Amino acid sequence: MGKHLVIAGGGHAHMLTLANLHKFIEKGHKVTLIGPSPYHYYSGMGPGMLGKTYNPEEVRFATKQVVEKQGGVFMQDRVNRVNPENRTVYLDSGQTITYDVLSCNVGSYVPMTIVSGTDTDIFPVKPIELLMHVQERMLELTLQKNISIGIIGGGPSSAETAGNIWRLGKYYGKNIPVITIFSGEKFMEHFPENVRNRIFRSLTKRGIEILENDFVREVKTGQIVMESGQKHFVDLILLAHGIKTYPVFQKSGLPTGPEGELLVNKYLQCTAHAEIFGGGDCIYFTDKPLDKVGVYAVRENPVLYHNLMASLDETELHTFDPGGEYLLIFNMGDGTGVLRKKKMVIGGRLAFIIKNYIDRRFMKKFQSQE
Ligand SMILES: Cc1cc2nc3c(=O)[nH]c(=O)nc-3n(C[C@H](O)[C@H](O)[C@H](O)COP(=O)(O)OP(=O)(O)OC[C@H]3O[C@@H](n4cnc5c(N)ncnc54)[C@H](O)[C@@H]3O)c2cc1C
Repeated sequence: MGKHLVIAGGGHAHMLTLANLHKFIEKGHKVTLIGPSPYHYYSGMGPGMLGKTYNPEEVRFATKQVVEKQGGVFMQDRVNRVNPENRTVYLDSGQTITYDVLSCNVGSYVPMTIVSGTDTDIFPVKPIELLMHVQERMLELTLQKNISIGIIGGGPSSAETAGNIWRLGKYYGKNIPVITIFSGEKFMEHFPENVRNRIFRSLTKRGIEILENDFVREVKTGQIVMESGQKHFVDLILLAHGIKTYPVFQKSGLPTGPEGELLVNKYLQCTAHAEIFGGGDCIYFTDKPLDKVGVYAVRENPVLYHNLMASLDETELHTFDPGGEYLLIFNMGDGTGVLRKKKMVIGGRLAFIIKNYIDRRFMKKFQSQE
């Protein structure tokens, strides 16, 4: 008899499952996907969309359409919590839905805890679709005056955001905004010196200022207050200071990792409930803690797809091998990139060409399901 597969979040680890949804339906199973938006945006091309290298249609997957076209049900909603005992998912809308097998790929978010008072003109860099609001607001302000932008955070997403905000400023054709990165610790602290230096130079040579070794205490509309007591006045603030896991799994009483991620075993399966699976930023892989990068979510696709089907069919599960060191390429926003794989570092146009090729190939593969 057919069973019910519930998919929580149409994130990067669910791409292959979504592309093959019809195969679940053909076997008599029912499939329901729950997600807050009819679209899922590919984070790897998010900064490029911000800088107008790509338009939104080029960087998004039509999740709702892909699900419905293959006979699945799409519910525009959010998973709030799960009761694993009676296999029920509780949604933000108040609706409930029962499952036989549940797969979670709800991702992560940028916390707003440093924001005090109003949050007008303060934008987290995730979800990626918010970057479109950044574009609109920046255009509005740019038409009125010369503007300044503060970017909070000193890691890759801050660096890519800064480079692509600069590009957007050029695109809008007026004065390039004054852009400052508030990196807290040393900028790109967790990267080798040769990567850090290339990115640092790429940004600072375009006039982007990088303030290191002073942490942001709080931000409010138009203002950034540092631990040192210094205040900076800016027109727009972008938050790129790290991500957090949604509290879904903790609220559900499921086993979790240090940040509240769903704890999964080598089958990407919840350690306490064999019918719950997960992938992407929202899981903690017990065998080897994984960086919160899209690369792992993408690598998880084949195993997650196989194991969801196997779990419904009661056949053998496959194990997930995270693989070796991954390729990272940063889009610097000026047509160049910085590529890092193991000890190899390449900067310049070639790095961006490689990134653009890989990202477009990924999009083409899964957008063709629309
Ligand atoms: C600016 C930026 C650039 C980045 N660039 C790269 C890069 O080049 N390469 C790289 O490897 N990594 C990159 N990352 C990291 C990357 O974003 C994450 O690792 C990746 O998004 C993880 O994929 P995911 O599918 O787990 O989560 P997400 O991309 O967050 O997707 C989660 C999905 O679940 C949905 N969802 C959220 N909450 C709920 C809920 N309660 N119920 C149901 N659905 C829900 C969301 O709408 C979304 O569709 C970047 C991050 C940022 C912020």
